[in-house]
Amino acid sequence: MAVAEDTTTEASESVDRGRGLLQVQRVPLSLDPTSNMRTTLKDFFDTSKFSDLVIRTEDQEFKVHKIVVCGQSEYFACLLSGKWKEATGNAVDLKEDDARAVEAMIHFMYGFDYDSSGSSLGRISPMLFNAMVYKVADKYGVPALKHLAQQKFDSAVTACWNMDDFPHVIAEVYTTTVESDKGLRDRVVSVSYNNIQSLFLKEDFIRVLNDTPSFAADVLQLLVEKPSTKRYTCPSCSKQWEANLSNDVTYYCLHCGSRRSDWKNYLEKKD
Ligand SMILES: [Zn+2]
Repeated sequence: MAVAEDTTTEASESVDRGRGLLQVQRVPLSLDPTSNMRTTLKDFFDTSKFSDLVIRTEDQEFKVHKIVVCGQSEYFACLLSGKWKEATGNAVDLKEDDARAVEAMIHFMYGFDYDSSGSSLGRISPMLFNAMVYKVADKYGVPALKHLAQQKFDSAVTACWNMDDFPHVIAEVYTTTVESDKGLRDRVVSVSYNNIQSLFLKEDFIRVLNDTPSFAADVLQLLVEKPSTKRYTCPSCSKQWEANLSNDVTYYCLHCGSRRSDWKNYLEKKD
């Protein structure tokens, strides 16, 4: 959509420059036909008007449009064309996938942002939910959604690595993605590396290191490549600890639990 808008602007400018006399009004955004189309698409989803395909999950049925889903998913484009067409008919069952993740995928296809918390029908951790959406986007060949899920996963993990389910998220990421797909793996590894001192104090984190050797190997590799180089002195308890903290992110002192986001002001030179 962004491409279409840019083209309009460029075309107007080139006419201005080339002919001088001809005044071309730029099209106001509200008159952009593609923006109207997005609104219409959402209406079509809400009302099921002209729907020609049903997608069934474990607990819901979505009346969708082949032109929308096939235009964005390699899987559906393949499934609903050629020799599979007759076998499929006008209904597709996706009952083996996480129902909330499939719901997010369909919403995304119709131009809605998806709710990271996993919709009102069953709330789970945003870290885990975005990992599930990533998996579904990969499976059904929707690269734009995969990219969005990765971004949302990044923010969730940066904010929530200290929560109890982070080790579970690590296990999930290493189970549901292949080794060559680094989108989520690199993120959990770098966040673990950055917070390794705190994470080592957690039983569940030690357990996931034991149970997931490829994760342990990835973290170890990073620790060897980039050994911890920074030392901080806590202004509350005056004790020191080592880590590689990101700027402007909130961390807790390992000794007294004092919470702050300005640790860079308490950096010591390491000897
Ligand atoms: Zn302290």
